[in-house]
Amino acid sequence: MKFLEYEAKELLRPHGVPLPPSGGVIKTAAGLPAALRRAGKGPWVIKAQVLAGGRGKAGGIKLAKTAAQAKAAAKSIIGMNLVTHQTKGQGIKVREVLVEGAAKIEREIYFSILIDRRGACPVVVASAEGGMEIEKLAEEKPQAILRLPFDPVAGLRDYEARRLAFDLKIPAQRVGEFVKLAKALATVFIQYDCSLLEINPLAFTPKGLLALDAKLITDDNALFRHQELAKKTDHETSSLEREARKADISYIGLDGNIGCMVNGAGLAMGTMDTIVLAGGRPANFLDVGGSADEERVTRAFQIILKDSKVKAILVNIFGGIVKCDMIAAGILAAVKKVKLKVPLVVRLQGTNVEQGRRLLASSSLSVVQAEDLWDAAQKAVQAAQNNGHRNGAAS
Ligand code: GDP
Ligand code: MN
Repeated sequence: MKFLEYEAKELLRPHGVPLPPSGGVIKTAAGLPAALRRAGKGPWVIKAQVLAGGRGKAGGIKLAKTAAQAKAAAKSIIGMNLVTHQTKGQGIKVREVLVEGAAKIEREIYFSILIDRRGACPVVVASAEGGMEIEKLAEEKPQAILRLPFDPVAGLRDYEARRLAFDLKIPAQRVGEFVKLAKALATVFIQYDCSLLEINPLAFTPKGLLALDAKLITDDNALFRHQELAKKTDHETSSLEREARKADISYIGLDGNIGCMVNGAGLAMGTMDTIVLAGGRPANFLDVGGSADEERVTRAFQIILKDSKVKAILVNIFGGIVKCDMIAAGILAAVKKVKLKVPLVVRLQGTNVEQGRRLLASSSLSVVQAEDLWDAAQKAVQAAQNNGHRNGAAS
């Protein structure tokens, strides 16, 4: 799950990570005077709260010396469509802004912790050249990026943090402060099962080190042991994805028009690739899981069909634990229940596949059967195209 800057900062604060004075988050300019008071005397900084970096350059972060400037900044940022280098050409609408006391920045460093998958451990990635986009730095000056893997059980040790401080050329009188901060960040990273914790910039100010920005991503698979996080709104998932999660179905909405229902994540990925190869676009990733029984298949159809972009459905199920005739019966019952109107292509493979196919063929419901996945993908692409044209002509 990805957290907004202010949510990440709320998690960091109790661990002693030094942060600018916060005036809280506001959704309208009406709340600004109180927020400014909470943040203390100016200058202030008004920050768009969206899940994308590069807000500063895109006009989503503004410094304000006076209350009038803060008001103008809040008014211009709230409701704006923020387009940054991370929003893939589209914008994100800004619904809330964070109000903070502005810091006087003397120097910026980049500090992050992520998972080194090859090393199977967390790793600190840091650079004395902060402020700049780390992606750009990695391309142009990779030697300026430091990496320090550490033991997830022991945490970041003092000597490791000191070595980082030395490599980042942190002045001697500030090393103690830096060590404390780096260790606190490592603790948060481990405690919340993060996949990324990024502080960019970590700023040197006359009052000490400050985490000016914070980006935090946690591993969804560990959400069960973080009740306090699970309760928070997942800003990235759609309502459909939340509904699927409740039904214990792995579903991710995509931008194509072929709904997919598959058992197994690997097979689902392969199915999506094959659809693309056949010239189509999947409308979703959907893994119904091991037991593709009538109830789950019905739920899956219901979820797929709530996406109005879906012009055809491709069911690709391997009968390993469950037998194909049971799956076929489940599909037919589910199709009846949801009164399916879009074309349905089914590819079954595995135990009792012949009985399964006979069941589908003998049904009065219109189900297009496919021999193999390539055949299925081509038929689904064709069906979606025909259905799209029909709809186009009717409207
Ligand atoms: P991002 O652009 O989305 O990564 O947002 P940041 O929170 O990192 O802010 C972008 C830039 O705005 C920072 O790199 C700073 O240069 C500047 N900035 C943010 N907060 C402050 C502040 O309190 N004081 C000053 N002077 N600059 C700030
Ligand atoms: Mn930043």
